[in-house]
Amino acid sequence: MIRHRVHTAAGPRPLGPVAHFTDPEQDVLLLHHVLELSAAEVAEPSRPGRIAFRRGAANPNGSTNVLRSDVLGALGVLKVATADQLQRLLCPGAASNKAIRQALGDLALHGLVASDGNTKDRHKTWRLEGMAGLEAAGHVLGLPRSDMGGTARGAGRSGAQHAMAVNETVLAFVLGGSAPGAAGGVGTVRSWSTETEFPLPGGRRKVRPDGVWQAPEIGVPVLMVEVDRSTMAPADVAAKFPRYRELFRTKVRDNDPALADQESADRTVHWWRRTWPGHTRPGYPPVALVVTDAGPVALANRQQAVANLARDAWGGSWWTIRTHNADGDGWREYDDAVPVISTTLELLAEHGPLGPVWWRYGRQGRHSLLDALEGPDTREAYDERQEAREEKADQEHQEWMRTLACADCGSVPLNQSTEEYGSKGRQIWTRRPGGRCWDCHEKEQQRRQEERQAKAQARRLEAARAANAQLRPCWTCWGSIGGKADSELELTGKAGPDRLECPQCVSDQEVQELGPLVLPAPTKREQVAALLSAPDDPWWDVRVLHAKLHPVKDRAA
Ligand SMILES: [Zn+2]
Ligand SMILES: [Zn+2]
Repeated sequence: MIRHRVHTAAGPRPLGPVAHFTDPEQDVLLLHHVLELSAAEVAEPSRPGRIAFRRGAANPNGSTNVLRSDVLGALGVLKVATADQLQRLLCPGAASNKAIRQALGDLALHGLVASDGNTKDRHKTWRLEGMAGLEAAGHVLGLPRSDMGGTARGAGRSGAQHAMAVNETVLAFVLGGSAPGAAGGVGTVRSWSTETEFPLPGGRRKVRPDGVWQAPEIGVPVLMVEVDRSTMAPADVAAKFPRYRELFRTKVRDNDPALADQESADRTVHWWRRTWPGHTRPGYPPVALVVTDAGPVALANRQQAVANLARDAWGGSWWTIRTHNADGDGWREYDDAVPVISTTLELLAEHGPLGPVWWRYGRQGRHSLLDALEGPDTREAYDERQEAREEKADQEHQEWMRTLACADCGSVPLNQSTEEYGSKGRQIWTRRPGGRCWDCHEKEQQRRQEERQAKAQARRLEAARAANAQLRPCWTCWGSIGGKADSELELTGKAGPDRLECPQCVSDQEVQELGPLVLPAPTKREQVAALLSAPDDPWWDVRVLHAKLHPVKDRAA
C-alpha cells in the first residue's frame, strides 16, 4: 500500500543512482529519505481504513506521511505558498488548515521547508529549504534536481504577491469554480510547473511563463499561463506574445525514418510538438493571460489593450477567394500565430477553467477553455458559410429562372444566358417573365407570318369579290362573274373587261365543247336607240365588238 503510493507519487524510477537496489529496497530508502519514517513504520502493513498516522519523535507535530509528501510536492511546484493555499489544494474538504500547518511544522523541523515572510494579509509563506528540500520535493514529483528550479528564498519577505496570484490561478484550475453549480477543476497541482525557463534562439533571452499547464487528458497538451497583476504597462505584457511566437518557431531535427530521403531542411519539426505531443489545433501552443488586482473595468480595458498591442502575434493572416464573391468574407490561417485566451483571476476562481470565462483574442464573448482554444474564423467555418451562400444563390437563381419559364412550352431555362430573341432575328435581350424559348420563339414568328399572309389573302379576295360584283354578271348563269363564293374555281383577282362568264360556266362550256361564246349581234332597233342614249345593257360593248369580229354571215347559229 505504502509502496504503491510512493510509486505513484515518485514515478517508476525515483532513485536513478541506486538502481542496483530492488524496488522494495528503493521504496524503503525513499520513505526514509523523504518522509522520515521509521523502519518499523515502513515495514508495517497498513490496516484497512487507517490513515497512516503516528505521533512519534520524528514528527512531533503528528502530521501524516501522505500529507507531508503532498506538501513537499505542492511546494516543489508552487515554490511559495501559504498553509491556507496548501490546504485548499491538498485537502479541500478540511475544516481548517491545522493538518497542513502540522505537516509544515514537521517538515520545517527536518529542514525541508522554511518560512521567511508573510503575505499582505498576514499569512505565513512557505517554501522549500535548501538542497535537502528541493531533493525531497524532486523525489515526490519524480523530477531530477535540474528540473526543480530554486527555493524562492526570500520571496516571502516582500509578500510574494505575484506568486500568490499564480497560486490562486493554479487553485482555480485544480478546484474549479467556487460559484454554486460552477464547472469542476481539471488535473492536480502536478499538472503544473512554475518558473520553467525556455531559452530563445541566441541563448541570451528567455521566455519564462508563470505556469506551464499540461492537461492531455482533455486534449490540451500544454497551455502557457501568464498571470498579470496590473503592475506592468500593457505594452510590456503584450511584448510577451511575440517572444512566445519566436520560441515556438524554433524547429529541431526530425529523426523520423519516414523522412530519411528528404532534404535536410524538410527533416525538421517544431520542438514543442515533440515536448508536448497531441497538439491538434491550428497554430502554436496557446497562451492564457490571467489578469487581476484591479477593478473589473480596468481589467477589461487592460485585456483589450494587450490584445490590440499583440495582434500581430495572435491574429494569423486573413484569406479570401475573390472568385467566391463572398462580399469580403474569408478565414484566418494560424500557421504562425500564438492563440491567446484571456480572463480575470476573479472570473476564473468563480467559474473555473471550464466555465465561460475565456475571451479568445479575435473572437466575441466568453467561452469555456476548450471552446476558446478553437480558432476563430477558420477555413472550415468559412467553407460552411460559403456553401450556404452558394446554396442560397442557387435557390434564388432557380426561383428567378422559374419566373422565366417559356410562355408556350413551359421549359425553365438553366441559366441566365437564355435570351429572348427579337423580331429582327439576332437582336437579343435578357429573357423576361412571359417570354419564349428560342424554339417557341421561331414557331411563333412562323405562325404570325402565316397569319399575316392569310389576312392579306383574305383582303385581296374581298377586294376581288367587291370588284367582280361591280362588273356585269355571268352571261350564262347570271351569278357573279367571279364565280360562286368559296367555290373551287372562284376568281381571287379582278375579272378582265372581256370576261363574259363565271369560271364555273367557262369550265362547263369546255367540258361540253361548246366552243367560244359569241354574244347576239345588236338588232337594227337597238342600234338606232343606242344613237339616242347609251343602252343599259351591260353586254352592249361586247355585243358590238362580237358583231364586228364575228359577222352574222359567219355565225353558225
Ligand atoms: Zn418553349
Ligand atoms: Zn356562270
